Amino acid sequence: MKHLKEQDPEIYACIQQEELRQHEKIRLIASENYVSTAVMEATGSVLTNKYSEGYVGKRYYEGQQLVDRVEQLAIDRAKAIFGADHVNVQPYSGSPANLSVFLAFLNPGDTILGMALPHGGHLTHGAKVSISGKYFRPEFYSLDKESGRLNYDTVRSQALACKPKILIAGYSAYSRILDFERFRAIADECGALLLVDMAHFAGLVAGKVHPSPVPYADVITTTTHKTLRGPRGAMIMCKAEHAGAIDKAVFPGTQGGPHNHTTAAIAVALKEADTEAFRQYAAQVLRNAKALADTLISRGYNLVTGGTENHLMLIDLTNKGISGKTAARALDEAGLVLNCNTVPFDTRKPFDPSGIRMGSAAVTSRGFKEAQMEQIGVWIDTVIQNHTDTGVQAKVAAEIKELCKSYPAPGLEYLV
Ligand SMILES: *Cc1c(COP(=O)(O)O)cnc(C)c1O
Repeated sequence: MKHLKEQDPEIYACIQQEELRQHEKIRLIASENYVSTAVMEATGSVLTNKYSEGYVGKRYYEGQQLVDRVEQLAIDRAKAIFGADHVNVQPYSGSPANLSVFLAFLNPGDTILGMALPHGGHLTHGAKVSISGKYFRPEFYSLDKESGRLNYDTVRSQALACKPKILIAGYSAYSRILDFERFRAIADECGALLLVDMAHFAGLVAGKVHPSPVPYADVITTTTHKTLRGPRGAMIMCKAEHAGAIDKAVFPGTQGGPHNHTTAAIAVALKEADTEAFRQYAAQVLRNAKALADTLISRGYNLVTGGTENHLMLIDLTNKGISGKTAARALDEAGLVLNCNTVPFDTRKPFDPSGIRMGSAAVTSRGFKEAQMEQIGVWIDTVIQNHTDTGVQAKVAAEIKELCKSYPAPGLEYLV
C-alpha cells in the first residue's frame, strides 16, 4: 500500500494496525471471516469506478461490456452452487436486501412474522428500532423456555392467528438447523410468502454440510461475507415467478448503481465456494464449533439449546456470575474477540446482556482444528474465571499471539 502510506499516513497506520490485530487475536465473532487475497484484489479493483444502474444487457449508461460479464458470472455461479431459479447479486448488504424483499411484497402496515431479536432474530426482521418494525406490523415468535429451541407448533399457531404476508425463517444467534419443510407447511397453511434469511449459514449450504432452503423458500436473502467468505454484500434468490418483483425492488426500488467491485468479489468467492477445499472448510467449521461447544459444556457453561449444529453458539453466563459485556471485554483484552449477546428471556439490558455469542468460521479459515478449539475453550474459561486479573489476560494474550504465528489468516500470510 505504498501510495496510501504516502498520501494518507493516518488511515494507512489504522489499516496496518488492524491487519496486525486481525492476525494476532482469535476471531470468534460469528458473523466475521477472512476473505482470500483473490477476493480482496477484486474488491480493491477499478470496478469501483464504474456506474451501471440497471441489469445485464439493460443498463442506463454506456461502457458496460465488462461489467455485464462480471455480473453475469456472479449470477451464473450463484445459481449453480445454490440451485436457485433467479439471483440478484446487487444488494449492498444484508439489511438492504431484506428491505428490498419487503418493498417487493408488502404495503406499509402489512404483517410480518419473524424470530424475536432477543431470541436470535435479526434487527431487520421487524425490530422496533428498524424500518422493518416502523413501516410494517411485526409479530414475533420466541424460543421455547425449556429447550431454548424453536417450537414449530407455537410458530404455526401464531402464524394462523396473525396471518402474516411474509413468514421469516432465519437468525443471527441460533445454533440449530431450521426445519425448512415445516416452515413451508406453516406458510402454506396461513397463506404467507416464506422468506429464508440465510445470512449466517449460506457458506454451510454452499459447502453442502447444511440443508438448503432453496426447495422450500419463495425468497432467500443472504449476506456474502459471513460463512460464505466473500466481500461485504448480499444476494437475493427467488423462484422464477418473483424475479421481476425482486429486481424492481432492488433497482430502482431501494438502490441506485450496484457496487461492481463487490459483485466481482462475490463472483470470485462463489468460484472458491464451488471447490473441494471449501467443502472441507465447511465441514471443519461444524467440527470446530462442536469441539468448542463440548469443551465449554464440560466446564459448566450453559449453551442455549444445549449445543450446536452449525457454526455458532450462544452462551448464557448467568450461572457464572458475570455479565456478557464484562466477559466480552476481558476476553478481548486476552486476544479472544467475540460479542456479548442477549439470551432468550434475558432479564438484563441489550447493551450489557447475559450472554456471549461465538462462531467457528473465521478460525477455521485460518486453519484451526479441533485441538485449537479445545485450547480456545480452556482460555475462555480461564479468562472468565479470572476476569478481573489483567495478569491472566496478558498471559493468555501472549500465548494466543504465539499460536497465531503458526496459523496465518488468509490474506495476512506476509505478517509471519
Ligand atoms: C448479518 C445479518 C443481516 C444483515 O447484514 P448486514 O450486511 O449487516 O446488513 C441480515 N440478516 C441476518 C439474519 C443476519 O445475520
